[in-house]
Amino acid sequence: MTQSVAELKPPSLLQLFLLFAAVIFFCCILGIATRHLTFLASFWPANSILLGLLIRFPQTRHPISFVGAIVGYLLADSSQDTPFLLNLCLTFANVLYVITTLVLYIRFNALIRSMHHGYFYLFLFSFCCVGALSSSLFAALTLPYFNTKYTLGSFWTDLSYWFTAEIQNALLLLPAIISMPNLIEFKQQLKEIKTQTVQESLPLFAVIFSIIIGYYDAGPGSLLYPIAALIWCALRYRHFSVTIITSLSCAFIIYHVSQKYLLLYPDQYLNNTISIRLGLIMMTIAPLTVSSINMVRSKLIQELQHIIAHDELTSSLTRRQLIQSIQILQQQAKDSAQTTAFIMLDIDHFKQVNDNYGHQIGDRALQSCVHTIQALLKPHDLLGRLGGEEFAIFMSNTDTVTAYHCAEKIREKISQTPIALEHQDYFYIQISVGLYICKPENQQSIEYLFKQADDALYQAKRQGRNQVVIST
Ligand code: GH3
Ligand code: MG
Ligand code: MG
Repeated sequence: MTQSVAELKPPSLLQLFLLFAAVIFFCCILGIATRHLTFLASFWPANSILLGLLIRFPQTRHPISFVGAIVGYLLADSSQDTPFLLNLCLTFANVLYVITTLVLYIRFNALIRSMHHGYFYLFLFSFCCVGALSSSLFAALTLPYFNTKYTLGSFWTDLSYWFTAEIQNALLLLPAIISMPNLIEFKQQLKEIKTQTVQESLPLFAVIFSIIIGYYDAGPGSLLYPIAALIWCALRYRHFSVTIITSLSCAFIIYHVSQKYLLLYPDQYLNNTISIRLGLIMMTIAPLTVSSINMVRSKLIQELQHIIAHDELTSSLTRRQLIQSIQILQQQAKDSAQTTAFIMLDIDHFKQVNDNYGHQIGDRALQSCVHTIQALLKPHDLLGRLGGEEFAIFMSNTDTVTAYHCAEKIREKISQTPIALEHQDYFYIQISVGLYICKPENQQSIEYLFKQADDALYQAKRQGRNQVVIST
């Protein structure tokens, strides 16, 4: 469900016209090829692809895109010698569905995304239902006036057949088009798929397995065999992969059922088709909704993890996260016999900063201090806030001289960085630093690191502040 306006350069009007005319023309030709039974197409991708493109790429929402699409619809059916007036009616019904659904989507999109993102598909398919109802009503009311093969006998059958086809095509195509990642994300997802372990592939194997079982057991219940495996995929895979797996499974079931089950009862063909479509619609909604709710939850968990791991004021690591990360890096250092350094630093006379300028300026000084330190650290170094105006740094793969120089540089840079006050006034802060070097042959517990660096820090304070002391 990613959506980016900046992904494509705005196309010219001619490009839009040609693109939509060509895409819709080919989709219609594909759909016409499935009009094998004397009436309407059993698969009609044009409407959902048109709708999907307009939703996914907002920059294509222009009257000229609709003009292009209408030309595509008309050209495709005129190649079948469909009478012009009937062709116009069919095209109007198709475009009515797209416009109604798109208008509802645009009207309520912001509300859904802000409040009910996990239920996105339920809302989207409700809009599709309104769109499909308007177009099927129009079709069922007007088509009988033409003496054609496109009517099925009764108003209700016409309406249901057209309506369920529209929704089923939407379910098959819309989710994948709307959640289509951009090129960079797509390459990354492809890389993930290639490096997938057998265990990670199990949900997909389960879908394939359940479809195969359903293929050989042609009873009506076999339609639902893949549901559990699809929900497993929805909980395990990225959303776009889920949309593709669900669509392909559904497409295969439709094909299989129309080749086997439906042909067993030719006199019930239409009723059974409508019923099976409704069943498949329900089956498709379940994994898609689980997947989008899962996606929202994963994002929330990620945000929560970030909040837990980072100090709100300075964005440096929290004490808890710092200790956890040090443990991991310490183990790595032990395995590869690296020297590490642990630094504790404390802002000198910080209470006076608050007393003189207020807490807000004190907060700004803390942020400035962290900003300065981060600019001097390497990407894999850790910086955490131990509490108040006290911070700690862990450096892996270093040596005494490098670590000392780094600590000195941090101290010096902080003492030279002005902190802004009102009226272009500013002031400076200074820090005291305690440094402990941990040699590979002398690995110690975290408590020991803290104790040594803390002692060195207090020595720096005692010796007059604004200096670095190495623990010996
Ligand atoms: P020393 O040089 O001995 O470290 O003196 P100090 O004044 O820096 O140390 P002291 O422990 O006496 O005071 C620390 C002050 O830090 C007290 C507290 O108000 C302030 N402080 C702690 N956390 C925050 C914070 O989040 N924001 C602000 N503005 N001040 C804080
Ligand atoms: Mg202090
Ligand atoms: Mg302190």
